[in-house]
Amino acid sequence: MRVQKKSHCPSCNEQSVFSGGGVNHWLHGILSVMTFGFWAVIWLYITFFSKRAKNYTCDTCGTTIMLTG
Ligand SMILES: [Zn+2]
Repeated sequence: MRVQKKSHCPSCNEQSVFSGGGVNHWLHGILSVMTFGFWAVIWLYITFFSKRAKNYTCDTCGTTIMLTG
């Protein structure tokens, strides 16, 4: 699920639209296979943690920041 949020971008130094809010399960699935399941532990941690703080990417410059909610 992609979410769009307005927030201050430290790179653009102005209010910008950020999109994100979802965990990239495809990427984590591939990493889990490559690390023989080890990454699945980190994946679960990220999935749990991302309920509080999520990665959002600035639509203007591509900077990734953490936003809550
Ligand atoms: Zn930006």
